[in-house]
This record gives sequence, structure tokens and C-alpha cells, in this order.
Amino acid sequence: MKTIIEPFRIKMVEPLKLTTVEQRQQILKNAFYNPFLIPAEDVLIDLLTDSGTSAMSSEQWAGMIRGDESYAGAKSWYRFEKVLKELTGMPYVLPTHQGRASERILFELYGGPGKVIPNNNHFDTTRANCEHTGAEAVDLVIEEGKQPQSKHPFKGNLDPEKLEQLIKRVGVERVPLVMITVTNNSGGGQPVSLENIRTIRQICDRYGIPLFLDACRFAENAYLIKLRESGQSHRTAREIAQEMFSLADGATISAKKDGLVNIGGVLLLRDAQKAQAAGNLLILTEGFVTYGGLAGRDLEAMAYGFQEVLDEGYLEYRIRSTAYLGEGLIRHGVRIVEPPGGHAIYIDAAHFCEHLTPDQFPGQALLCELYRHAGIRAVEIGSVMFGKIDPQTGRTIHPPMQLVRLAIPRRVYTQSHIDYVIEAIGEVFDNRQNIKGVRIVEAPTVLRHFTAKFALLD
Ligand SMILES: *Cc1c(COP(=O)(O)O)cnc(C)c1O
Repeated sequence: MKTIIEPFRIKMVEPLKLTTVEQRQQILKNAFYNPFLIPAEDVLIDLLTDSGTSAMSSEQWAGMIRGDESYAGAKSWYRFEKVLKELTGMPYVLPTHQGRASERILFELYGGPGKVIPNNNHFDTTRANCEHTGAEAVDLVIEEGKQPQSKHPFKGNLDPEKLEQLIKRVGVERVPLVMITVTNNSGGGQPVSLENIRTIRQICDRYGIPLFLDACRFAENAYLIKLRESGQSHRTAREIAQEMFSLADGATISAKKDGLVNIGGVLLLRDAQKAQAAGNLLILTEGFVTYGGLAGRDLEAMAYGFQEVLDEGYLEYRIRSTAYLGEGLIRHGVRIVEPPGGHAIYIDAAHFCEHLTPDQFPGQALLCELYRHAGIRAVEIGSVMFGKIDPQTGRTIHPPMQLVRLAIPRRVYTQSHIDYVIEAIGEVFDNRQNIKGVRIVEAPTVLRHFTAKFALLD
């Protein structure tokens, strides 16, 4: 059979509210042309993020009811710890309320002024937590990872040569750890090969530097290794994921991605002393070491989620359905970042809106038109998110790419929803010369994409 079906059936439904173009026009206006400010109930297909938006399984919901809410040593904690130890081989497991809490603790232990932390691409919260300690966050993804049209199978790889050059340039004592993000979220959701992780491990060993994974999408990365890396197709995604973790000294995970839950995170460590110190920091802001700011039922849901996500039927459907959206858009002539990654499709908005200059925010303009035309919500990853104001001239310095990300929540939308998205974006593409640019009316100086207000240009 060629058709890959959703490997689940639906037991509970959440109605979608249908709105008209006229209503959406008004809603957009009320939201100052910033989809972050649109109430979620007015969105038909919400592709804003894949974080915390997963549908949980019946097993996870059953676990929620069984959740043990004891303060210390709850049954749910032991179940969660066992699942994470078996998956990752890490001796120390700390639960946190989400990924950035794990990052905050990790960088408090390893970061600090003068330190330099390499990564393929730091995710924005990872960079912020690293820099918050006074350390410098450096991105060392391979060159192909910066080229949207390159079809390299592992565009998330960390460049081993750049890493060695960095270590030699700044001195090994200033590099407290090396991090690899799997899959590389900020770099288009592109995977990292097992060979690359092994190579980076060897470099780390040579210099005595610990290696950490930002493992939010470890299962999608493992499955893309199975599909794309030679000699890996006979292994299970679980075996590949286990090898990925075996190469690391620790990991931070946001369970809101491949943990298949709505809230939760993990910090994993091998070093006993660091684990002790991390536990103390956890107690300071998150909670006792056996719950880390979560309810017992959340630990229970994560324990099931981290197992279910490695089901090969699920992963085949997940990776295939993301690619399906990408292929549908390419057929309409829409240019995307290739090859499709694990969790999202990134549209090249500069190509889509060729008639708009970066100063007219083509990504934001496209977001608004997708919502106006079809009720689809996406996110801009371009000049609104990453543009910097030149303090001398007051003009915007634009990032290299103007992208619109369509992130796919896990187990939430069916193929007909995605067919609708493909058709709608195809129609918007056919009438793309009518898309109006936007200007910023009001914006904060940091993380402006969340709250900035815009107006349409005439
Ligand atoms: C989401 C994410 C984080 C942060 O996790 P939160 O749960 O949102 O705090 C860190 N790194 C990557 C790669 C992510 O995708």
C-alpha cells in the first residue's frame, strides 16, 4: 500500500469555528495585523507552533487520572524516571516545567562571563539563557545548512572544522560544553546525522569537553537518520535514539515537542556532582527533585509520550505528512526550505512576495494574507523576528532569509486539513501580486514579533 494513513482514530473532537473572509479581515485589523494577537478560537488551522500543541493518546489521558500527586517520591515520578533512563541511559533525570528551565539550570552550572558555547544553531531560549549568564553563544552549522535550496540530507550538522578552529582560537578552557540541537529547529528543522554526532564526540573527547544534546525532537531526528543515513535503515528509531544519547554527557529536552505533552521538560546528566548541584537549583525555582514544577499527572503523561513517540508507525506518518505538505506547496510553485524537515515547512516569503522589499516585511504580509484568505495561522521568521535596528542610522538590518514557518502540531490535523492548507496557499500564491506589505506602528525593543503592531501599506 502506498497510502500512509494517520495511525490513530479519533475518540474526542474539538469543533473548529468557521469564519468568513469579511470577519477575518476585521479580526486581523483588531489584532494589528499580528497573528500572535488573534484569539485562538478565531483560527481555523493553527500552524503557529508544534510546541505544547500535541494531541495526547488515550493511554496518556488514562495516566493523567492515575497520576500520583504525592509531594516526594510519587509513583508517577518513578515511572517517568524509569522510562527516561531506559531511553537515554543517563543516570540522573531531573523533571522541569519546560525546556528553558532545563537550559537555565544547565547554563548556570556551565556558563558564565568569558565562556563560549558552540551549537549547530542555538534555539532562541537556549541562546537567551546562555547569554544571560554572560557567556557567548556561537552557531557553527555546516554551510549547506544556510542555503535554503541545498538538498543535503543532514543540513543540521555541526561543522567539525569550525568547532576545532573555535576551540583553538578562544582556548579550550573557555569552552565549558558543546551542544548539538536535534533536529535543528532554528535551522529549518533539519536533522543531524549519527556520523556527525560521533565526529563531534571525538573532538570533545580530544579536548576533554562535555557534549550535550538539545534533544527536543530526538525521535524525529532518529527517524530521519533511519531514512537518510547509509547503514541505518535496518535499525529501529529507538536504537538510533539510544545511540544518540549514548554519545552525550547530558541533554536538555522540552517535552512539549517529542514528549507528546502540553507541558513538561527534562534535564539529563551523567556527572554526579553536576547532578547534585542541578538538583539544588531545581529546588530553588522549580520544585523538589521528584516533581520539578509539574503535577504527578504531567509526569505520567510524559512517561507514556516518550515511549509512544518512538513508535515507527507514528514516526513514518509524522515525517511523511510533513513532507506531504512541502511537496504539495512545491507543486504549486511555492519555494520552500528543502528538503522538508521533521516538524515544519518553511516558505521562502521573499520569493513568494517578490514585489515587496524586506522593509515591507514580506513574511508578515504573507502571514496576514494566509489568515485573511483561509484562516490559517503561521509564524514569521524573518525581518520582524530577527531584524535589528542600526543604532546609527535607525534603519533595519535584515536577516539573510524571509521565511514563514508552518509548524505541524503532532497528531492534531488530518490529511484533509493539510490538503486544505495546500490548496489555500496555492490560491494565495496565484494572486500573490495583490499581497500588501506592512509597516510597524509600535514595537518593543526585544522579542518584538510577539507583540508588535502593524498597519497595511496602500
Ligand atoms: C522549544 C525548544 C526549546 C525550549 O523549550 P520550551 O519548552 O519552549 O521552554 C529549546 N530548544 C529547542 C530546539 C526547542 O525547539
